[in-house]
Amino acid sequence: MPYTLFHNITLIDGCGGPPLPRAAVLVEDNRIRAVGPEATLSLPNDELTMLDGEGGALLPGLIDTHVHLMLEGGNIPAMMMTPFSLNFYRAINYMRRTVQAGITSVRDAGGADLGVKRAVEEGLVLGPRMQISITVLTTTGGHGDGWMPSGTSFDIFPPYPGVPDGRVDGPEAVRGRVREILRSGADVIKVCSTGGVMSPTDDPTFTQFSPEELAVMVQEGGYRRGIKVMAHAQGAEGIKNAVRAGIHSIEHGIFLDDEAIELMLERGTYLVPTLLAPVAVLEQAKTAGAMPEYGVRKAREAIDAHQDSIARAYKAGVKIAMGTDAGVAPHGTNLRELALMCGIGMSPMEAIVATTKVAAECMGWQDRLGTVEAGKLADLVLVRRDPLTDIDSLADQENIAVVMMDGKIVADRRSVADRQTAPA
Ligand SMILES: [Zn+2]
Repeated sequence: MPYTLFHNITLIDGCGGPPLPRAAVLVEDNRIRAVGPEATLSLPNDELTMLDGEGGALLPGLIDTHVHLMLEGGNIPAMMMTPFSLNFYRAINYMRRTVQAGITSVRDAGGADLGVKRAVEEGLVLGPRMQISITVLTTTGGHGDGWMPSGTSFDIFPPYPGVPDGRVDGPEAVRGRVREILRSGADVIKVCSTGGVMSPTDDPTFTQFSPEELAVMVQEGGYRRGIKVMAHAQGAEGIKNAVRAGIHSIEHGIFLDDEAIELMLERGTYLVPTLLAPVAVLEQAKTAGAMPEYGVRKAREAIDAHQDSIARAYKAGVKIAMGTDAGVAPHGTNLRELALMCGIGMSPMEAIVATTKVAAECMGWQDRLGTVEAGKLADLVLVRRDPLTDIDSLADQENIAVVMMDGKIVADRRSVADRQTAPA
């Protein structure tokens, strides 16, 4: 069936303009062919499947620019008891949940290797389109170094064939390691330019990597058709080092100061708030022993500053791309982030644009994804309730009626009767 028509929908196209009621979207194979008011759309004579939206809203496939598809939860003892290969089988479930929640594209910020990406591309498992960083560059003793006070190490993203060790110090060593990561198939380079919450021996405000080391990462990525660097960056100094080095996106941004915000505006740097991450750490802390004490303490210390920091960046006009750190929170709950974004002052429409158009721009995929426009890939999400009046509804999976990826329906929660589609 080469054509599918979504009709009886309100279109929220990702561009941020007013929604279009009584709209229709025509899909041919894996591309959006036509978009407009239902009454005016000219339809093909060929085989056409009608998909009645029943007055729901149609959105572009949603994009999460910061996930960890190979990880769920922060329970270190449980992770230590998990057989290595079991993680891959579990990730099948995480990826499926992600897609079924309406997330059709992600940037994996550490953990997913080239084999995981290829398994999805080859159709062996259902998962989102992805850009992968493979591992996370960290200094010795930094966020990403799994050294424990006992003297043993537990790396959340351990090196193995196809995954270089992320721990590295000094500009020339960094150069070599970045080249290894790129050789392994990374689409984006991930670095920790500050400490973080879920690491045993550092603090979110600690600065990691020198400006010279960060510049080497940006330079080496640039040599490979402009591969970008994303920085886990929480303290102000490490954020500013990253922005000045030309890093593309700041992840978390917990302690942005005015100078950091000014620099981000100047350089056009993206901010990926991940407001859900500390919320999830504190929620899971309620389950006894599920989170290490240092993680809970640092999340509690950071959470107010984080929201204040993101609110100031938003008001100043910094480009915000939706990202959650999913894997800290359970996969499939990604869209809780949008209500949190509204909590710091964004409108529901702005939160949606951050999850579609701006997120696609952040990933360099704006030519093919992020908005519902003729010529783009047919990644579409049909929701029952109006997200502009009820942003929380996006986090309710029962509300996600249909997910289309690359022209194929990959999730369908309509009743059997509603699925009876008649040729036009
Ligand atoms: Zn992360």
